[in-house]
This record gives sequence, C-alpha cells and structure tokens, in this order.
Amino acid sequence: MTGQPAPTGTPPGAREADRLVSFLLPHRDARGRVVRLGPALEQVLAAHAYPTPIRNLLADALVLTALMGTLRKEEHSQFTLQAQTEGGVVELLVCDYRDGALRGYVRHDPSRVDDLGPSPSLSALFGKGYLAITFDLATSGERYQGVVPLEGASLAEACERYFAQSEQVPTVIRLGRGMVDGHIYAGGLLVQHMPPVGESKLGEAPQAPPEPGADWQHVAIMSGSIRPGELSDPALPLTQVLWRLFHEEREVRVLDEEALTRGCRCTAEYYRSVLAKFPEDERVAMRNDDGIIAVDCAFCSKIFEIDL
Ligand SMILES: [Zn+2]
Repeated sequence: MTGQPAPTGTPPGAREADRLVSFLLPHRDARGRVVRLGPALEQVLAAHAYPTPIRNLLADALVLTALMGTLRKEEHSQFTLQAQTEGGVVELLVCDYRDGALRGYVRHDPSRVDDLGPSPSLSALFGKGYLAITFDLATSGERYQGVVPLEGASLAEACERYFAQSEQVPTVIRLGRGMVDGHIYAGGLLVQHMPPVGESKLGEAPQAPPEPGADWQHVAIMSGSIRPGELSDPALPLTQVLWRLFHEEREVRVLDEEALTRGCRCTAEYYRSVLAKFPEDERVAMRNDDGIIAVDCAFCSKIFEIDL
C-alpha cells in the first residue's frame, strides 16, 4: 500500500495478531515497524509454566525480537536477543527470529519470583546484567553482535540504548500487553531515524551518523504518544495504528506485511545429525544406562531421546 493508510472497515469481531507491518516516513527520513502477537505468543508461553512476571517479560522480549529481527531481511538469517545476569531472579532470557518464526524461553529462580511484584523493574528482574543482540547472516556467514548493559526502566528501553550506543541510530520503541477474552496479546512499535543514503541495517552503523533534526524530533514525539492498549488491542488493525499516529504526514509508505508464527528447529532427526558429528567416544560418554542420549530443547521444554 502506498500513500496515506486510510482507515479500513474491519468486520466486527475481527482480530489482527501475529502480523508485522513495516513502513517508511519518506519525508521525515524515518522507518519503522508495528507488530502484534497473539496465538503465536500463547503457543510459546504454553510450553512453559511461568509465573506472571516472567510471562510478561517473555512476551515483551518476543515483541522486541519481531521488531528488531525483521530489520534485516534475508532468508535463513537469524536474529537473537539474549539477556543474561549473574545473581538476578532471571538468569537467562533467549529469544530468536528466523524466516518469520519466533521462539523464546526464560531461565529463572522460582523461589524468588514472589518478591518481584506484578510489574517488576528491569533491575529487580535481572540485577546487573547484559543484553546481547546478534545477527547471523545466512548468505555471508557473518555475525554482528552488540552488547549493552541491561539498564533503564524496561527491556524496550534497554533496546533503545542498544541502537543509540551500538549503532548510533536514534530509535523509539513502545510496547503494550493485554488480555482479551482470556487470551494474551502483545504489540510493539519501533521507529528509527534513517540515514539519508540507503537504509542502515542492524549491525551496521552508518559511516557518518547524521545529526537527527527537527523532522526526527517530531517523529519521535508522535511515535512516543502511542498508548500500550492501542498496540495490544487485536480489534485495531495495525494500519489503523499507523493512521492514528501519522495521519498528518505527507506520506506513510507501507513496505511489507509479514505473518509471524511460533517455530522451533528441534526434531529427533536434527539432533541425530548433530550428534553424528561428535566422535564416537564422546557419544558413548553422553549415553545413559539404556544407551540413549537425552537432549533437551529449552524453547519447547521437550526432551528428545536419541538412540544412535
Ligand atoms: Zn524446540
């Protein structure tokens, strides 16, 4: 869709989720994405019995993974968001995105979750930690990684800092979460200043970062005005979210709409092929008393018993 996204008539009861819309504001040198997760998010959460603060954290992290993972469009490339601490209630958070599929899990100390309260701060969850953003490019085999301290009020704020510090790209990120008829929905908006020549890609800092001017300030204020409920409400189409924010702009160019799913690469065949690469003596050492190697997928909370 080119031009101003006009509000479209939505059939009553229609819900938009597990979709991402990427867009450009060509007259403001800005680009962005808006995303909403629903059933795919529920599927990720269903593999685990996480308490509410951990579920909410993982929901936010998956939305961020969708927003950031789609910044670099290349088939089979993988984006990974990893937050890690020593001594935090959350020890490890891992989410990744590849070819439209999202997955994630959290390793935490259940005995300390009750101390957190319903909406814990980033430091309450992680203590002193680090956020690692990694892009593994399929065609070139290159890996880009940026690491920033887990600082700020939220995971979204830590990601904004990642863009500011590692890529020198001014970025606004907003997230929202809500329940509708007992189902969880989580949405997000990412808008960033775009270098005037070409598109800055995640992992590639522009050679000479341009100073963002009044145009960017305007976009940042408009983007920051979105309400969390607008992002999470499945009755509100994503193009309507853009319309509400940017209807006074000369042009909002919708670039792409993408369906998102919950996906994992774990299969018995996959693990068999991985284990086959180990030397025989190491495989023998991995076997249990029944001669079986147990491999577990932390994303799916599933154990595969491999009999080689
Ligand atoms: Zn799995």
